Amino acid sequence: MIPDIIRTKAELRARVADWKAAGETVGVVPTMGALHQGHLSLVRAAEENCDRVIVTIFVNPKQFNNPEDLENYPRTEEEDAKKLAHHRVDMVYVPGPEEIYPEGFATTVSVSGLTDVLCGAHRPGHFDGVATVVTKLFTQTRADQAFFGEKDFQQLQVVTRMAADLDLMTEVVGCPTIREEDGLAMSSRNLLLSDRARIKAPVLNEAMEEMAEGLRAGGEAHELRVEARKKILAAGFTEVEYLDLRACDDLSVLDTPTRPARLLAAAWLAGVRLIDNIAV
Ligand code: AMP
Repeated sequence: MIPDIIRTKAELRARVADWKAAGETVGVVPTMGALHQGHLSLVRAAEENCDRVIVTIFVNPKQFNNPEDLENYPRTEEEDAKKLAHHRVDMVYVPGPEEIYPEGFATTVSVSGLTDVLCGAHRPGHFDGVATVVTKLFTQTRADQAFFGEKDFQQLQVVTRMAADLDLMTEVVGCPTIREEDGLAMSSRNLLLSDRARIKAPVLNEAMEEMAEGLRAGGEAHELRVEARKKILAAGFTEVEYLDLRACDDLSVLDTPTRPARLLAAAWLAGVRLIDNIAV
């Protein structure tokens, strides 16, 4: 059955209040829509862990630092709702902008440190937008657990920190990255790639896997990065924004994986910004 689409926080709150009164737990999967198997894996995790499941779809203007990017972002609400029909989803919450940012809205949630690097350094204001909307979605849904993908590893660290710092009642749960068969991390932005660009896109992950192998064999990131960048650019990517080995907990730069570490990258292909990360 296609789940109900709820568009106001009043209606959302009324339904959640009934669930809570019945002692049921609530899981939320925050998304910007254009749902793919990556999103659906989060929905499955929510189904497994919670009595009730809410999927939110909100293309959050505050987390886009580029108006063109916001305009081009894929919007496929009807198909999204259909995809959720095969899951135990109780509600799709698709708030209008005024439900999230009513007139006079003046508050920003800002996480320092973790947001200064990687995507934070290249997309000014992005993580403030994410932290602000996620806080609102947590408080509006009163979710016990929220499911986020490791695909956006820095975002996962930021919302985990934020939920802990603000004593939010929602536990953040991280879930593994789902990939296409050729290794490309699934992303709503992949829809924006031309057929030609789509063929080149997996090279990002390939180069990262090779670099990770080099690191595991004792190599150093500053050396291995040179070859990896070359490979990515030779495939037709126009820019590698970053390709860093970083500590999982505080995202500090590492040259060798002396503690739990992640290789993280952002690169541009045919006008589309792709990100990926893998454990080392
Ligand atoms: P988005 O709609 O891109 O804002 O993503 C919504 C949620 O889905 C975020 O928690 C993402 O990390 C997660 N997500 C996106 N792509 C994937 C993927 N390939 N595998 C797992 N989770 C993903």
